[in-house]
Amino acid sequence: MKTFSIAIHGGAGTLVKGMMTSELEAQYKSALKLALDAGYKVLENGKTAVEAVEESVRLLEDSPLFNAGKGSVFTATESHEMDASIMDGRTLNAGGVSLITGIKNPVTLARDVMEKSEHVFLAGEGAMEFAKELDYKLEDPSYFYDEFRHKQWLEIKDTDSFQLDHSTKKDSKFGTVGAVACDQDGNIAAATSTGGMTNKKWGRVGDSPMIGAGNYANNKTCAISCTGSGEFFIRGVVAYDVACLMEHKEMSLNEASEEVINKRILEIGGDGGLIAVDTQGHIAMPFNTEGMYRASKSSGGKEEISIYK
Ligand code: ASP
Repeated sequence: MKTFSIAIHGGAGTLVKGMMTSELEAQYKSALKLALDAGYKVLENGKTAVEAVEESVRLLEDSPLFNAGKGSVFTATESHEMDASIMDGRTLNAGGVSLITGIKNPVTLARDVMEKSEHVFLAGEGAMEFAKELDYKLEDPSYFYDEFRHKQWLEIKDTDSFQLDHSTKKDSKFGTVGAVACDQDGNIAAATSTGGMTNKKWGRVGDSPMIGAGNYANNKTCAISCTGSGEFFIRGVVAYDVACLMEHKEMSLNEASEEVINKRILEIGGDGGLIAVDTQGHIAMPFNTEGMYRASKSSGGKEEISIYK
């Protein structure tokens, strides 16, 4: 049997040891472990990488700790607009949704776009219409209400500024979630989900639902899920850039993801990180910020759950 593995993230940013209470740190770690173990179990049971990444991301979306699904940040109009995507490295099929609201698990809607529509990317009202046709239940806005997130929004609501999750001017932290996996057949997949930026307006969309920018999977090379300053990750076409370095420059998974996160994206001003797997089950989780909520597990016996550098 081939090595199978999974990696997940819950965002990157100014995460410095001692900034958080030990109780909160423990809560983050146990939420990561729950999502990691659930995705790993899917792989252990012989199911596909696509099923595993969806499962892990659903659990991260259900946690109020991360900026996705239940924990999504507030927009300028005090609502929630969520973005998500998923890609199957075996077939290159992909699905993305953006500017959706009231959907408990945006990653599942992205998977439905991939598997039940002729399209790759649905946005706004049209995406909601698609969800309605598939009988999705809409959650009341109170499901997404979180006191801490609301406070973040109140602090900047009447300004033109928008903020990455939890950020203050000197402390920025991204709370997007994602998962990448390599299954027992050596097929890989990636999924990413986010609430975007606090106080965002004008239908702002980040890198997370964009195939090639915040999310990408191709059995030829790697599966990637990103987190960070979306505008820069879009310009850097980050996820696809890692795959390109592997395909055209024959770099290893580790070399290619380090090159993109610690050199290429830094050069254009982007901060954040990514998680990556290849078809041999290797894992890389580089970031250029102080920390990144991350976890990984492989059938080779390695397991990691970390926050700081
Ligand atoms: N990349 C996300 C965005 O720009 C934010 C994040 O990673 O937290 O929407």
